[in-house]
Amino acid sequence: MAEIEGPGYPGTWPQFLAWFPDEAACAAYLERLRWPAGIACSACSERRGWRTGEGRWWMCAGCARKMSVTAGTIFDKTRTPLQTWFAAAWWMTSQKHGLSALGLQRALGLGSYQTAWMMLHRFRVAMVRPDRARLAGTVEVDETYVGGNEEGARGRQTETKSRVAIAVEVHEPKGLGRIRLARVPDVSKASLIPFVTGAVEEGSTVRTDGWQAYWTVPDHGYTHDRILISHGDDPAHVAMPAAHRVASLLKRWLLGTHQGSVSPQHLDAYLNEFAFRFNRRTSRRRGLLFYRLLQQAVLTPPMTYKKTISAQRPNSS
Ligand SMILES: [Zn+2]
Repeated sequence: MAEIEGPGYPGTWPQFLAWFPDEAACAAYLERLRWPAGIACSACSERRGWRTGEGRWWMCAGCARKMSVTAGTIFDKTRTPLQTWFAAAWWMTSQKHGLSALGLQRALGLGSYQTAWMMLHRFRVAMVRPDRARLAGTVEVDETYVGGNEEGARGRQTETKSRVAIAVEVHEPKGLGRIRLARVPDVSKASLIPFVTGAVEEGSTVRTDGWQAYWTVPDHGYTHDRILISHGDDPAHVAMPAAHRVASLLKRWLLGTHQGSVSPQHLDAYLNEFAFRFNRRTSRRRGLLFYRLLQQAVLTPPMTYKKTISAQRPNSS
């Protein structure tokens, strides 16, 4: 990972409290993340100005234009103090498996479950970098099914569960690299091939089972490694062990941290969070995850009012 040249980050909770004693300290931190080369007026390029509104607003000395460090970010127009947002980001990244909205509400002593849920949700949305590099090397691709109450559903014919496509880098002789996850409407070629081309760098080897939707993989610049299970194989034999491993970790996380209460319309955001954690699982510096999350948060546009409302689900985490 690249050298940190930004404002740095705290390493422990006591350090966190010392770094961010008030709203102005939080606003100044966001300002350095958002404008690493220093603030300049977007109208007249003037670099001198005054800070107001506990540091959230900057007023240009040249033309009196006002700019807000939170406008155009996930913190846009929030009435929740930045200190609370920062604490939520800290808890979210310092816990190995993250935490539920109820867990966050308790940890921070928040009066509102909805506030806790909304903060977690917006951070999840910020967890995907639009410019992230695609997977490369040997990549296993498979699908799994998440959620729903249809016990005993088998194979690809399920209707009540959400289908999730999985791509995972396989290291030889063993070990997993990065992952990509996406909800797909079905397991047709029209759904799975765009997932593959969006997730995997051309020139890579794409390993799949014999499912016909994958037959055109070689047409898109990949080497296709089809693994077929023969009749003689052990029934417990898994054709795609790496994807299978990721699927079981994902399900365990949804059941453990979130009690399986994730509704289908919010699943994408949870997949974001799971991939963000998985792809940084070897990082021993939790403060760095906090830093990365806030860095992405100031680059992620705010959700629209309508989206925000539809995202409010008081009884779901
Ligand atoms: Zn100006």
